[in-house]
Order: sequence, then structure tokens, then C-alpha cells
Amino acid sequence: MTTTSPILGIDLGTTNSLVGVVDSGFPILLADEQGQRLTPSAVNFAADGSLIVGAAALRKRALEPRRTVTSVKRLIGRRGGEGDWQPPYSLRELGVSPIEVSAEILKRLKAIAERALEQSVSRAVITVPAYFNDAQRNATKQAGELAGLTVERIVSEPTAAALAYGLDKLGERQKIAVYDLGGGTFDISVLEMREGVFQVLSTAGDTQLGGDDIDRAIVNWLAEGASGNSALESQATPAAEAAKKRLSSEESTRIELPFFDGTSSLSVELTRAEFEKLIRPLVERTRAHCLRALSDAGVKPEELDAVILVGGSTRIPLVRRYVAEIFGREPDISQNPDEAVALGAVIQAGILSGSLKNVLLLDVTPLSLGIETFGGLMNTIIPRNTTIPCKAGEMFTNAVANQQDMLIRVLQGERELAKDNWELGRVIVPFPPGPKGSARVGVQFAIDANGILQVLARDTATNTDTVLEIQNTAVDVDDERVEQMIAESVEHAFEDMNERVWTEAKLKAEELLPAVDAALTQFGDAVSDDERRVIESAAASVRALLHATEHDAKALKTANAALDDATQELAVRLVERAMEESLVRRGLV
Ligand code: AMP
Repeated sequence: MTTTSPILGIDLGTTNSLVGVVDSGFPILLADEQGQRLTPSAVNFAADGSLIVGAAALRKRALEPRRTVTSVKRLIGRRGGEGDWQPPYSLRELGVSPIEVSAEILKRLKAIAERALEQSVSRAVITVPAYFNDAQRNATKQAGELAGLTVERIVSEPTAAALAYGLDKLGERQKIAVYDLGGGTFDISVLEMREGVFQVLSTAGDTQLGGDDIDRAIVNWLAEGASGNSALESQATPAAEAAKKRLSSEESTRIELPFFDGTSSLSVELTRAEFEKLIRPLVERTRAHCLRALSDAGVKPEELDAVILVGGSTRIPLVRRYVAEIFGREPDISQNPDEAVALGAVIQAGILSGSLKNVLLLDVTPLSLGIETFGGLMNTIIPRNTTIPCKAGEMFTNAVANQQDMLIRVLQGERELAKDNWELGRVIVPFPPGPKGSARVGVQFAIDANGILQVLARDTATNTDTVLEIQNTAVDVDDERVEQMIAESVEHAFEDMNERVWTEAKLKAEELLPAVDAALTQFGDAVSDDERRVIESAAASVRALLHATEHDAKALKTANAALDDATQELAVRLVERAMEESLVRRGLV
């Protein structure tokens, strides 16, 4: 047993959670008093204010569905628990938040570890789905702290699974994909391992897709047969889940619900073929994410050395066949799908505490981060799939003279227009008024090893820093649309690009037209009639396109270029004249 305080590795799962530690150089998972390593992520709140966590809580679910909180991970870091997943309980009624419920599960895991290790522990590494956004990562960290644990690192689940797979292959060079279909979330990541360095190349997924949806598909199917009986719907979930698990090894199973509403009973046969038909649309939803992850990583399916399956739902034979179809190879099932993520968390904890050496983990950021710039465009500062921790910044200036401050809107997403991305937060940076382009505001984004963002804005004239706190505002992000965002960015790539070119051309035209008008009025004597006609007609074309109802970005760009060309000579003459005048003024000629 280690003498210094160990760091726990924790897989805080939607359905089950696990805890472990590195002991004498080996990652091990710890068991509770009953010898169980899996702790159901369930908390039962009794009317007298007491609570139970784990298997005992889960046993109470059928009798007390409104007092038993399960799958709380689907609600953590989400605004008021909104989303298309409606739990059978109400956290508001119970008077607890998702963070508090998660903290109870973490307290239980801490107690299991302390009992097994016979010492107190206060530090942990916790895993989250790769697709968890800033708010969800922060919320998980807060839950850990509420449970009395210093959260040393938040690690993405697929990355953790890759660590578990690769620990005994440290000398090898491999490209691997981790397909993780759990109780509530789906993640796919492509990684490269090279001499102990694990680098995530890309990650994608769906935060609202997992075994719970499969259970619901069965319940809906049962309810159809029983014409929408609400007692049936609330009672059937445990039976549906059990039947689903049996169908992973049996060809057919019977679902029995005796006296589910006090009087009626139900007994139906569900064959594997029928079950597969029911859930195929859910499984098919993973395909686009896999293709996206491969293309983001620049890896062809045949270049992969292994596709690792993680998460309880990958035990379903249809899922395995489907993965084989997508990647053109049989998946690797060497890892225990329930334990790989936890083992990876333990390995990461071992790396941090120094008990495991020669391993380095490089994770990536799942979505692009940037700020809104002139004309409502998204200006990406850190592109998606950048290795973290990372830091990047850019300098911005004032668009109009005498501006006194600048509004910085921090955005997350893949779309070209700011309005289509999510706002994580905003801050106003004041600076001394001056001519257009005189202000210098540096904006720096830093993502730490946990994937948590900090934004710093600095007015370089006064060296005043404004630090933007992201964590609370980010809760407003509708994370259900994370994956939709990615899909839309592909779908709208063409229009978005057109809109970006249009906005840029419009800004340029709005700058050019008044400048040309002013030059013609002020220095009209410097142009011939012919030249004036050409300039005026070029300006008229620009104006017409600018005010046309149809946005023709390409035409406006061409017209701008023509106007630029037409005024070239005039511009040169104006500069020459200005220089002459200045020399005369200074008495040099
Ligand atoms: P995880 O979040 O990785 O713990 O995965 C839990 C999910 O896997 C739950 O939805 C379980 O119902 C599901 N699961 C566990 N074992 C099986 C099995 N043998 N067949 C199908 N699904 C399973």
C-alpha cells in the first residue's frame, strides 16, 4: 500500500460508477463490503431526509420511482435539467441539484476506497464523456469538491479507455478508435499511441444517446401493446432493461409484469430479431459521428490498428455487428466494457501521483472556441480537436473612431456566423477613445488539462486585464445541440461560407463607398471626366449589389475589386498630392 495519500481514479458513470487506485504499480479497482466493484449511480431519498446510494437505492426504484434518482449524469451541467430526457423523478421536488446527487455518489465511492485502503483519501481523477462541454466538466468538478475530493484532473472517457487498452503496449505505435456506448451517452474518439504518448486525434459523439434510450424503445413497444397505460410505462423500465441484457446472449426472452397497476398483468415474448428492429435506428445514429471522427483525424478505417468497444451497451450483438460494418473490421473486445474507463482513470491518477511513469496523455478540445467579430462573424481562436492544455490569442481593434469599449462575446461552435454558435459568456473591455484602429485589445483563450476554458482580455494601452468567468454562463448552453451543431456545420457549410464572404464584402463596400465619394468631392479636379465616369459606374455597381435583396457575395466581391482598380490611380495621385502639400507646409519645396 502506498504511504502518501493516493489519488483515486473514478468513473462516474450514467448507470454505474467505479473507483480504483494504483497499488504497487498496478491499477486496481476497489470493491465494497459485498465484494462489488460496480456501484449503481442511484440515490434514494427517503421521506425522513436520509439517503442511500448504490445497489440498495436501485432496489427501491421500482417501489419509489419518484424518490430514486438514476442517470443524473444526463442532467448535470444542464439548465434546470431541461432536455428531451425526462426522468421519472423531479429533482426540484426532492430539493437537490444534479451536482449534489453526483456528490453523494462520489462520497460513496470515496468511502468504498477509504475502507479498502484503510486510509483517508482526498484527491481524485474523474472521467466525463469527451463531449461534455465546459459547464458539464465544471459541474462534475464541483460535485467532486462537494464530496470532499480535490479533483486533480477531469479525463475524457474514451481517452481513459485507450489508456487501459494501451498500458501493456507502450512500445508500440498504433492508431485506435474507441467506440463507447454507455447508459446515457455515446462517444467516439480516434487516438494515436506512440512510445507511451497517447494523443487524441479527434472526438465526436452524442450526449443524449445510450442504453436508457434502448430501454425506452422497449417500454414504448410494450406500451403500444397495452394502449399507453401510464402505470405500465413507469413500472416497465427495470423489466425492459433486464430483457435487453438477456437478449445479448439469448435469442428470445419473455417480459413479465405481474399486476403492474394493481390488477392487470403483462407477459410478452420479445425475440432478438424484433428487438434489433426496434433499436436499429438508435444504433444507426452512431454512424455519422464515427465517420466525422475519422475524417477529422485524417485516418482511414483501414489505417486503424484496433476499434475498442467500451460501455455496457456494446455488449449488444447488433451494436458489435454495426461497428464491424462501419469500420470494416471486427472490434476489439479485450477490455471489460464496464471497467476500461475506470481503469484508465486509475492509470491517469497513477501518472499524476508519479506511481506510473513513461506514459503521457494528450487530449483534445471537442468544439471550436472563438469570439464574435465585425459583421457578426465567428472568429475561431482555438479550433476543435486542438490538443489540450492550450493557449491562443489574437489582437483586436476598434472598428469606429472614439469607441470607448469593446464587447467580447465568447462563442463555442462550428458555424461561420456568430448567431449560429453558442454564447458561453460576454465581457465589455473599456479602453481610451481614439481614432479607428487605435485600440489594441488582446484576447487570450486558455484551456486547461481538464478542458475548462478561461478567457482573458487585455487592453494593451493600459495593461488592464479582464478575466471572463465562463462556468456559470455556460450552463445556458443548450448542449443537446452539440452534435446537431456539428451536423449543421457540414450541412450549411456552403451557405455559411457564402454568408461569410458576403459579410466581408459588405464591410469592405461600406468602407470603400464613403471614401470614394469623399475623394471625388474633395479632389474632383484630380480626375478626368472619363476616369470619373468609370469610378462612378463602378461605385454604382457596388451600391446596387449592396442594397439588392438577394445577397450575391461573389458579385459584390468582384464589384469591390473593380472599384478598387478604378480608383487606383486616383489614390496614388492623392497620396502624391498629400506628400507635396506636406512638404510645402514644412517649407521644404
Ligand atoms: P455504462 O454507462 O457503460 O455503465 O453502460 C450501462 C448501460 O449498458 C446500461 O444501459 C445497461 O443497461 C447496458 N448494459 C449492461 N450490460 C448489458 C448487456 N449485457 N446487454 C445490453 N446492454 C447492457
